[in-house]
Amino acid sequence: MLKHRCPWCGEWLPGYELHLDLISKLVELKDPPSCHNCKNVYMLHGISKQHFLKVELKVIIFGVLLAVAVCFWTSIKKDINMLWGLFLIMGILFVISEIILFKQVPFERLYNRKDNSIFSFLRKQKVSVNIQWISKKSSGLWRPQLQVQDGEIFPAYFKDTEGNLISSGLCVVLEEIKWTGKRQCNCEISFVRDDISAERYFQKGNHLYLYYYDRQIAEGIVL
Ligand SMILES: [Zn+2]
Repeated sequence: MLKHRCPWCGEWLPGYELHLDLISKLVELKDPPSCHNCKNVYMLHGISKQHFLKVELKVIIFGVLLAVAVCFWTSIKKDINMLWGLFLIMGILFVISEIILFKQVPFERLYNRKDNSIFSFLRKQKVSVNIQWISKKSSGLWRPQLQVQDGEIFPAYFKDTEGNLISSGLCVVLEEIKWTGKRQCNCEISFVRDDISAERYFQKGNHLYLYYYDRQIAEGIVL
């Protein structure tokens, strides 16, 4: 599972505890979490969350069907202890799957409607890119189709059409991801930070290289 970055400044965010924070926020127990670096608040990415809730619904349906089968089987065996034991195992598996599902969801900005930060979202420049994910053997990600969801953020280095490096590591958000193969997708990118002028980097034919920690994990081309 990927460690996610702040949708305001691109800094790493804490992982596990944060998701518990967000789950508690879903039931209105706490204020939304804020970035330790830029202090802005954020939430689970909406589209990715919807995707995972659909997956979760399938997990629940499968669990219910399994529970019915277990009840039926133990009623034949007439062993109530076995029934409770199996329910306990299923409950543990459900909690683990829940944590895994939510850990895969990246974050998006939570805008304060009282200030003008919402306008930075409206001004965001986006461009379509084609991305080829590097194989696991060559330090790429394990099953990017499963791990990389809408809203995921990676630092990117850009090269112009002549192959000259034109940027340092600038964090980009991947959205509207459409997978065209196991390790290939089309998507839209925008810069995380609001103070970067995208014009120079979003030129057709420019190349970009995505990194996770210090590993290059993908190469893309601006369409
Ligand atoms: Zn931040």
